[in-house]
Formats: sequence, structure tokens, C-alpha cells
Amino acid sequence: EREEPTHFGAGPAQLPTVVLQQAAKDLINYNNIGLGIGEISHRSKDAIKVIDDAKAHLKTLMNIPDDYETFFIQGGGTTGFSSLATNMAAAYIGKHGRMAPGGYLVTGSWSQKAYEEANRLHVPSKVIFNSKDYDSNKKFGSIPKESQWIEEFNKNKEYSYVYFCENETVHGVEWQELPECLASNPNVEIVADLSSDILSREIDVSKYGIIMAGAQKNIGLAGLTLYIIKKSILKDIEKCTSNDLLENNIPATPIAFHYPTVVKNNSAYNTIPIFTLHVMDLVFKHLLKKGGVKVQEQENNEKAQLLYTALDKHPDFYNLPVQKDCRSKMNVVFTLKNNDLDEKFLKEATIAKLTGLKGHRSVGGFRASIYNALSVESVKKLADFIDDFAKENS
Ligand code: PMP
Repeated sequence: EREEPTHFGAGPAQLPTVVLQQAAKDLINYNNIGLGIGEISHRSKDAIKVIDDAKAHLKTLMNIPDDYETFFIQGGGTTGFSSLATNMAAAYIGKHGRMAPGGYLVTGSWSQKAYEEANRLHVPSKVIFNSKDYDSNKKFGSIPKESQWIEEFNKNKEYSYVYFCENETVHGVEWQELPECLASNPNVEIVADLSSDILSREIDVSKYGIIMAGAQKNIGLAGLTLYIIKKSILKDIEKCTSNDLLENNIPATPIAFHYPTVVKNNSAYNTIPIFTLHVMDLVFKHLLKKGGVKVQEQENNEKAQLLYTALDKHPDFYNLPVQKDCRSKMNVVFTLKNNDLDEKFLKEATIAKLTGLKGHRSVGGFRASIYNALSVESVKKLADFIDDFAKENS
């Protein structure tokens, strides 16, 4: 039992209370078997059912085509950065017998970190653009138009993959759609980090090579990463031998992160945290019951609109550093024009039970994360607070 929270933290984030209530029961006694879901073998019938159910429910929710596989690996977004780089390099070598750089579209700190990790691992990679370079203040907060970077993109004839982060959680920058040069390009595999906006809006999975998402925002607890991969990429990775890797100076992928191995073992090559996956599946079922991603998307649009409208109403009081055309519907970033009021804002918000609003330590200011579990009603409370605080302190 708990009072419905209004917690706007960026992650780990608030989850639906009904999901947690069910999970709490199942942690102690799962389906009346006399044991909790975390106490049974990851190869038992019950565990396998959790894995298969989670995959099936996600497939329905995201309309995942049959030529895609879903799998889960221990870790988070950061483990994704490393494993995507080495697996995609192997896939390219497996398919073409040579290496080409991975291309990175850098729009915030998470895509930047993904690029840095590929580099650290000596996987050839190239920044196609860094949005800071197009910003007058040299800060993240915009996405340059495709016409501004297409020349740079075309400089390379081949890419082993092109990587981007659909929603930059720290900076509140979200791609509204896939860039045309990728969406309509059969020669480029798109690799996308959806850690903070998966299941928040409808997307066309068939356009992507791989989708990666850490669980702890929209879909569950920390500890698992979800992947959706085109099956042909799995085959290409398998074709790449360790000699091929040596010849191309690409590091081998640790076995627990080697995608074909994980998929062949239905995500249980090693011990999958089955409780964590069960929570994810409960979130999927909850969303299905609610009406699916389309319904959630409409709600998310409404929530984002409530907050941005409240903030835009007081342009002399609040500052919104992100350009309108790429404002995130998940992480609303803002600062107060008068920083002396920062502490007061946080204090009064906390008294009103509106928590988790402090901005990321690298950017400061405030950030309201309004993931799927936050109701329109909760967001409305924050929007009213934002409006009232400006009126009272202007
Ligand atoms: N990508 C995105 C978009 C994120 O928001 C985060 C974490 N907030 C990460 C990657 C890194 O995730 P983790 O801390 O689970 O490694």
C-alpha cells in the first residue's frame, strides 16, 4: 500500500503501483508454488514462461515483425554501448569481410558516451555530427537539420552501423522522427538507444537494425537491458570468426554479451534476473490492458503539453534550453531565470510532494521526467505548481 507518488526522477523511475503490488506478492510466493519468482531456476518451466511471455507481450505492444528477435541481458544502457559496438563490428565483418566505421549522431551526453565507448574499445567510429557544434552556446539542446550534416554523412560510403539516442535523458532532447537518410537507406543498419522513451510512442521497428533499452525508466527495475534485433544481423555476427576479428583489430565480445549466444539460449545462457524480467512483463501486461502504446502516446502528448505550456507561459521566469522542434516528451528540462530561487522552488515542490525534480548534476536547473507511469493528473499538479510559483515569485 502507498499513496500514489508524484515522483519526477529520471531513473530509476516510478512504476505503476499495481505492478509493484503484484511483483511484491510474486517475490514471496509465485503462482502458489511456495517459492518466490527470484528463488527458482532460470531454466525452470516457470522462468521460461516469464521469458517467453515478456517477449510475446512486447511483440504485440511494439508490433515487432517476425524477422526480429527480442532478448535480455544483465546490465543497463552502458553495457549496451559496449556490446553494440563490438557485435555490430562483427556483423559488418561477417557480412562484408572488411570493417567500416560506426557513425554516431551526437545530440547529448548519452550518445556522446556511446561514441566514446566504441572508441575506447578500438571499434572504428566516427562522429557524423555533434549538435553542440551547431549551437551558438556550444551546448546540447538542439538537433541540426539533416541538410546541415548530410555532406558529412556522405563522406563515408559505408558505415557498419549508424547510432543515435532517441531521447537524451539528461538534456531533454528527443528525435521526433528518423532522419530521412537513415529511414530510407537499406545499406545502413540503424542502432538506437531507446532507454528513456521505449513504449512512450509508436515506432516502426522494421526500420531499425537494433533497438536497445535499459529497463529502469519506462519498463521496469534496473538490472536488465532489452534488445530487439533484426535476425539477419545475428547471422552476420555468427559468420565473423575470431581470426576475422584479429585481422581487423576488433576486440571479441565477452560471451555473456555475444548476441547470437544469448539468443540461441533464449536469454538464459547465464542466469537471467528473472524477478527483474517478471516486473518488466507485468509492466507490458499493464500497458496492454490500458490499450497499448497508442493510448499511452496520447497521454504522454497531453502530459508534455501541460508542462511546456505552463513553462512557456512565463518566459521571463523560466528558461527552456531545448529548441521547440526537439523538446523531449519524457524529460522536460528547465531553469529559473533567477537562480537564487532554485532552493525555494525545490523546497516548496517537496512540500507539495512533487519530488525528483533536480536537474542532472552536469546541467543543473530542473528536470521533470514524465515517463509512462506518471498520470496526467500527477503532471497537472506539477504544471499548476510551476504556474503558481512563477506568479508568486515574479
Ligand atoms: N542511455 C540513456 C538514454 C540513459 O538515459 C541512460 C541512463 N539514464 C543510459 C543510457 C545509461 O544507462 P545505465 O545507467 O543503465 O548504464
